Amino acid sequence: MRKRNSVRWLFLSLGIVAVLALTVMNIYSLYALRESTIESAKDNKKSQLDEFTFQVRHQFGGPFRELRKLDIEKLENSWSVSGNFPAHFIEVLGKASEDPLYDDIYYNPSDSDACYDETQPLYKFNPDLKMFTMVNEVPDLVCDGFGISNSRVKALIDEYRFNNKVTFDAHRSMNLALINLDDRVVIGHLNFTINREYLINEVIAKKLKEQFGPTDKTGLVVWLRDWIQDDILSSSDEQYTYNRDVYEIDMRQRFPEMLENWILHASFLQSPTVSATNASLTRNLIVLGFAVIVLFGALVFMFINAQRERELAQRQAGFLANITHELKTPLAVMQAAGENISDGRVKDGQRLKSYGEHIYNESVRLRKMIEKLLDVAKVDSGQTVLEQAPYQLEALVADFAKSNKQYIQSKGFDFNFDSDSNLPLVMIDPDHLETILNNLIENAIKYSSDTKQIDIQLTKSNDNVEISVADKGDGMAKKVQKLIFEKFYRVENSLTAKTKGHGLGLAIVKNIVELNGGTISVESTEGKGSVFTVSFPALFKGQDQYDPSLVPQSTDSEIKNIDSKQYV
Ligand code: ADP
Repeated sequence: MRKRNSVRWLFLSLGIVAVLALTVMNIYSLYALRESTIESAKDNKKSQLDEFTFQVRHQFGGPFRELRKLDIEKLENSWSVSGNFPAHFIEVLGKASEDPLYDDIYYNPSDSDACYDETQPLYKFNPDLKMFTMVNEVPDLVCDGFGISNSRVKALIDEYRFNNKVTFDAHRSMNLALINLDDRVVIGHLNFTINREYLINEVIAKKLKEQFGPTDKTGLVVWLRDWIQDDILSSSDEQYTYNRDVYEIDMRQRFPEMLENWILHASFLQSPTVSATNASLTRNLIVLGFAVIVLFGALVFMFINAQRERELAQRQAGFLANITHELKTPLAVMQAAGENISDGRVKDGQRLKSYGEHIYNESVRLRKMIEKLLDVAKVDSGQTVLEQAPYQLEALVADFAKSNKQYIQSKGFDFNFDSDSNLPLVMIDPDHLETILNNLIENAIKYSSDTKQIDIQLTKSNDNVEISVADKGDGMAKKVQKLIFEKFYRVENSLTAKTKGHGLGLAIVKNIVELNGGTISVESTEGKGSVFTVSFPALFKGQDQYDPSLVPQSTDSEIKNIDSKQYV
């Protein structure tokens, strides 16, 4: 048995470990899934930022798409001969001057140093005349642009593969150096002053909104920041004010080789994908938790059930051993007494009487035992016959009290029966009621050692009639009070060890009480006694008094109305 028990424990532990392992694995994979979803959402946003800056750069190249085909030699010759560029290049510049992104176009031939020497010429493009005209004064930013373009291109001139190179002076100007690749010299620099307002409001702000706003849909907010001026120039969603304490900056993105003092700051808020992943994670965790609880519950329930069955089997086995012994005992007594009488060995009248009493008492004991066994067999096979009719319990219980009073008193007990009058009718099988009372009285007798008193009381409570059987016997502990109604259960104490019984009486009682639509409960205190209360529902609800007119005609004859209140 112990071996089987440890195998059971082993399986239960293995089951629990498996459930735990599965749960941990599931939670781990759910978190991993969430992390990878968040990562891929971040990657996706990163590439969106990249794409954004390239789009802005692309905007600057608009008028110059054809520039790669530029024939620098022709251009150089044209300038030195006519002071203007060839027609197709003028056309390109015309387009650039129409582009609102640029304000003015200046040209500084490399043989001129107009920004430092006022006598040297500088040229400005006149879109109406479609030609360059000489100017005396140029804004500083134009000269700054020329300076930057000149120094950057000169330093790397040997490396260029194309005959022009674009350089930005922050967000102020775009400069185009024209390079003679054969001679590795710069023939001049063109300067396109940038319309800052247009760039910010029409190009960047619009694109930011197009690509990243509104934030509650995209989960991303992007600000354009001038980090030198510490100024926010634009944002993808105005509802989100730039504040690093509130929004953590997850990514910074510069524009490629341009707009150097501008930078994009991006903050990843909860995107719909991430929110959905989080929500599904929570849902999954709830379902998983629920499943684990149910699984655990089922495992523990199965284990407890198995344990109970084992106990029941043990009790049943014990019962079989006991019952065979107990059936044999009265038989042996009767056999011996009968043998002595039939042999003619007992002749004395007094002894004959005593032998006869023995035989009678033992046969009664045997009959009771057999009846109980039959009751159990009927309960087990569901064959208990129910012959209910409307009864006034007062009458039935009074009958029982009357016929058992002597027996109870013969066991040394004080016995009282009391009843409320005019109790409502209940549906009951009178034979069943007798079995119930018999068992409860037998127990009260068996389990009372010092104070010997039994009280039966009939009361009306709400729409029920209650029969209580109270003793002042040994009582029982709280924890066993639920178990005593189980088959074969006997409280393990010295008193039960001394008394005869098989733990069947109360199981039979509970079964037939319930069969008759009633309930049974017990209140007991160790050393003080027990009260068993059986309650049956009134046949007619809300009836305070017994009213014979309410009784169906066919069953009227079975009603015994008792007026007297004093039975014992
Ligand atoms: P049995 O009396 O044959 O053991 P029962 O099913 O009638 O079986 O009772 C189950 C157990 O409940 C008894 O073994 C006893 O320990 C306890 N019990 C029943 N009635 C009483 C009572 N009136 N007082 C104290 N204990 C009781």
